[in-house]
Amino acid sequence: MDSSANQLMNRPILASIHTAAFRHNLRRIRELAPQSKIWSVIKAKAYGHTLEAALAGLESTDGFAILDIQDAQWLRAHGWQGRILLLEGIFQKEVLSLAEELKCDLVVHSELQVQWLEAYQGSSEHGLSIFLKLNSGMNRLGLRPTEYRTAFHRLHAAGYRMHHMTHFANADRVDRLPSVGEQMECFQEAIAGLEAPTSLANSAAILWHRNTLGDWIRPGILLYGVSPTGIYADIVRSDFQAVMHLRSEIIDIQEIKKGEHIGYGGRYEAPEDMRIGVVAGGYADGYPRHAADGTPVWIEAAGDDGVGVICPIAGQVSMDMITVDLRNAPNARVGSLVELWGNEIPVDDVAQMSGTIGYELLCALASRVPVKVI
Ligand SMILES: *Cc1c(COP(=O)(O)O)cnc(C)c1O
Repeated sequence: MDSSANQLMNRPILASIHTAAFRHNLRRIRELAPQSKIWSVIKAKAYGHTLEAALAGLESTDGFAILDIQDAQWLRAHGWQGRILLLEGIFQKEVLSLAEELKCDLVVHSELQVQWLEAYQGSSEHGLSIFLKLNSGMNRLGLRPTEYRTAFHRLHAAGYRMHHMTHFANADRVDRLPSVGEQMECFQEAIAGLEAPTSLANSAAILWHRNTLGDWIRPGILLYGVSPTGIYADIVRSDFQAVMHLRSEIIDIQEIKKGEHIGYGGRYEAPEDMRIGVVAGGYADGYPRHAADGTPVWIEAAGDDGVGVICPIAGQVSMDMITVDLRNAPNARVGSLVELWGNEIPVDDVAQMSGTIGYELLCALASRVPVKVI
């Protein structure tokens, strides 16, 4: 994938995944929650970063949390011997024996799953461990408080190792319901007297609701160095590093006249004579088509005195290309390195200019973009 021959043949776009940044971010999370064990959440191909990179960079985690049992197979095949949590449990009861073989921890979020596990227990001796999920107000997955205690007793009686789990709807903001406080109250009431380890906190709760940490935290987005709120300023002082750097190059430069229009729909009209850089990267690479004029890119050594500069995109993002206002970049030339997001340009900033959050852009990195794990 990253052989130099391929590098020569490919368009210049490349996503580099920095395992040192993974290690740094995991260490930061441990500092924030030294008493808790960590489920590193690597669903959606590790938020677009690849399982390979996650395993390489996060090997000192206590466990990996995933959705697809195929990812558990992959992790075991590649030597991971620690714990693996299936975040939505199993989708068919026939998969239980495979989950056990792979030594997965299972989330149980529904009465149906409780029944599958009760039936399974009858057939064999096993060591399955369960994270029983309470719907404490988000109303997505989870047992309602009235069903929770009975389910806990049933599974406990069936011999499973039990844990309590819930998930917050609004750990990243204070102006929405249900609040973390309400959900915590619901959780405490539901688990009262039922002795078992707990798991509640996602990235936002780890940062901003320190009373929720419990025994197992479940960070996702922070491992990747991206903000849970979608706004980079909210984590800028917390010392996390971007793991994915999406970079490309200028492949052509247009000299355009005042009043001329750029790209599909002629969205951008030149306010003066200016240079426009054409960058190899478009929505078929996962760069958002909704990015507004003004969305920043960074161009290496393109400024006065050869410093890196931030330039705004100008014109509609197309399938394979982005056009950039080079008025700020007198030294930009064909072949200049351009960062679309990463170290210099937080993916959150691109997301904000596109009406979405960093999570979505990371997960949407297109399969045609070569990935290099370093
Ligand atoms: C995705 C997910 C997380 C991680 O959320 P972040 O906001 O990325 O930290 C934690 N818990 C559950 C149940 C999830 O589905």
